[in-house]
Amino acid sequence: MDISVVIPLYNEAESLPELAAWIARVMAENGFSYEIIFVDDGSTDKSWEVVKKLRDADPDHVHGASFRRNYGKSPALNTGFRMASGDVVITMDADLQDSPDEIPELYRMVREEGYDLVSGYKKKRYDPLSKTIPTKLFNATARRVSGIHNLHDFNCGLKAYRSAVVKHIEVYGDMHRYTPYLAKLAGFGKIGEKVVQHRARKYGKTKFGLDRFVNGYLDLATLWFTGKFGKKPMHFFGLLGSLMFFLGFIAVAIVGGMKLYHLYSGAPYILVTDSPYFYLSLVLMILGSQLFLAGFVGELVVRNSPKRNEYEIEETLEP
Ligand code: UDP
Ligand code: MG
Repeated sequence: MDISVVIPLYNEAESLPELAAWIARVMAENGFSYEIIFVDDGSTDKSWEVVKKLRDADPDHVHGASFRRNYGKSPALNTGFRMASGDVVITMDADLQDSPDEIPELYRMVREEGYDLVSGYKKKRYDPLSKTIPTKLFNATARRVSGIHNLHDFNCGLKAYRSAVVKHIEVYGDMHRYTPYLAKLAGFGKIGEKVVQHRARKYGKTKFGLDRFVNGYLDLATLWFTGKFGKKPMHFFGLLGSLMFFLGFIAVAIVGGMKLYHLYSGAPYILVTDSPYFYLSLVLMILGSQLFLAGFVGELVVRNSPKRNEYEIEETLEP
């Protein structure tokens, strides 16, 4: 099969028939073999009934799954990824903001230009300013932290993946924003971008508020940390801990030195607690040992993880 279109949806009943018809038209025009996988993320409206109707009308192409409750866009995508069997997997929002007309070119970029992942870029957006300005900042940070410098729009719902990519990454929590980073961490480094059309929401309303930016930054920090130190937490905590300890020792030396100097040079009598360095040394040494302990605990966790020796092996040459 050429293409799997994975569509996470949460209360998007009005959009679905139009979307399915549009995708079917694009696929027919280009002669692709395809499937559409609707993942209903616990909708409380008629979405799933609509999906089932679409399925009855076109059982060869429409597949899907529905969650018993609302888990979020990432779990929905992950479920779709597990079900997908196309050579290229395309994800798309259900709200008709992404255009199915982009599918042929995305497919071509993955198949012919050899991209592992192509992300859409909503250059001209039809969203309120309160969303577009923080988005710019957010993307600049994501570019820096992930080291994927050519992406302008991490959060775009329209993305195309080589099949191997979706089978090797796990999207959870709110990590759908960072699938390019997840792909890169899994060793799929050829990541491209395509400017795509974007349209205003026709039906329903957005499911994400401004908290997406707070959560987005936190998730980015998590990915950075786990990507860099996930298998060797001591290298992170141990470094910080050593630094704290080192500074603590200097502070102790200053306190001790001053006390001895005052004792033996006949200068006026002082208490060690008179010196600000006394408090600094306390804080730094306590923090330092805490960080070391965190490092050891981290190493124990890693040691017990069944994933500690899981690597992305691309090819093996057996004897
Ligand atoms: N979505 C979902 N589960 C959720 C929230 C959203 O599956 O808990 C889907 C939603 O139905 C849509 C896509 O994720 O298909 C993007 O959501 P939305 O359009 O609200 O995001 P925005 O366009 O405002 O970024
Ligand atoms: Mg939308």
